[in-house]
Amino acid sequence: MPIATTNPATGETLETFEPLSAADLEARLECAAGAYRRHRRTSFAERARMMLRAAEILEAEKDRFGRIMVTEMGKPLQAARDEAAKSAAGCRYYAENAERFLADEAVETTAQRSLVKYQPIGPVLAVMPWNFPFWQVFRFAAPALMAGNVGLLKHASNVPRCALAIEEIFRRAGFPEGVFQTLLLETAQVQAVIEDPRVAAVTLTGSIGAGASVASIAGKAIKKSVLELGGSDPFIVMPSADFDLAVRTAVKARVINNGQSCIAAKRFIVHQSIADEFERRFVQGMEALKVGDPMDPATEVGPLATEGQVRTIEDQVQRTVAAGARLLTGGNRLDRLGWYYAPTALTGISEDSPAYRDEVFGPVAMLFRVTGIDEAIRLANDVPFGLGASAWTRDEAERLRFADELEAGMVFINAMVASDPRLPFGGVKESGYGRELGPFGIREFLNIKTVWIGA
Ligand code: NAP
Repeated sequence: MPIATTNPATGETLETFEPLSAADLEARLECAAGAYRRHRRTSFAERARMMLRAAEILEAEKDRFGRIMVTEMGKPLQAARDEAAKSAAGCRYYAENAERFLADEAVETTAQRSLVKYQPIGPVLAVMPWNFPFWQVFRFAAPALMAGNVGLLKHASNVPRCALAIEEIFRRAGFPEGVFQTLLLETAQVQAVIEDPRVAAVTLTGSIGAGASVASIAGKAIKKSVLELGGSDPFIVMPSADFDLAVRTAVKARVINNGQSCIAAKRFIVHQSIADEFERRFVQGMEALKVGDPMDPATEVGPLATEGQVRTIEDQVQRTVAAGARLLTGGNRLDRLGWYYAPTALTGISEDSPAYRDEVFGPVAMLFRVTGIDEAIRLANDVPFGLGASAWTRDEAERLRFADELEAGMVFINAMVASDPRLPFGGVKESGYGRELGPFGIREFLNIKTVWIGA
């Protein structure tokens, strides 16, 4: 894909960017290696001062950063401003806690003294997606930089202005040259960066295909990788649930970020005793959404991020309907400028249709009915993904079963799945491995060093 800013609300390409030449890339990698040698020696207090300054910049200029996001990937403006503020919260969280998370840990053994030290490992490459173009990057960069590593960002090719704005934030915050660099790269250039001996590790957030490719290159080079991949999260509603809250949250959980969130609820698994009413109210909710210009404060659902996204969704819905599913609402591209797709709900989805097992990355909901909790859990787990899961019930025994038996990295009871800097984020199965956020996130790219001091 060319590296370009193209407004999804109009389809207009506003700016194109040249990928780095081989010589420029070499200079950037050398700069990262030099910056790492100095940055790893800085104190937590120095790093925290700069990280808090980055948080202040994000908060003070969230409207400007929000507008850059909207122009490149189409999320509603208020959500984009909130994303800049959440990125600031991520910076603060690691600025305030990194030293505690990475303090030496004494361990009692037969040695005179033995301890575990957490030490940085070097430049870490982050291959990032466009859907949360700020938050995804900050939740990688804040812990990496606080730990003493340095960051190299290869962002998605449709969000270059976001990528450059983030580099600018770290520079203005006082981080020395090379501590965080945006590399405008094409996919074909990523392999050489991962293989470069100066690069220590790689983290990727994105699709299964990209993850498999990056992880296999890293594996061959014996480098650690973390993968945050797709999801097809279930949203289960049982008879004892707070029905009104569940159905209102269901609509929100499906269309958040114009339906393009890895942890958006995608499959709604509802007990048959309440399924008719759930279906009626859910469809009503989807039809009431205000779809339109993401810069308009009243807009709840904006365009999809790229033309390719719309084509993929159209194809998935058409093939699912051809395999026997019934459209309850939507199912079409909107007849207007830009890449808009109508909020859509499908039912009667057969096991051999794309919407049953694949991730549908747009405002399209799949509704299923079940006879009880056993069938709900079986259906919820019957996908290759295992990212998040939301279950709605007031029954304590059911809550415990969902928490224990759902195959997911994150289970939320009576709430929609969300990320929080304090809690680990990540998945199992084909949703990836490793964790971001919380104390776990900062320890992914470290040398966890054993020190044994004999008598
Ligand atoms: P994508 O196509 O996989 O792209 C993600 C990033 O990987 C982009 O920077 C992309 O660059 C790059 N890339 C693509 N193919 C590559 C390859 N073969 N080698 C190296 N880099 C490659 O995914 P997307 O469409 O941008 O994002 C949507 C996906 O991300 C969804 O599946 C979503 O669920 C997932 N996601 C997961 C999480 C999570 O935390 N688990 C969070 C957000 C999104 P180009 O843009 O240049 O192709």
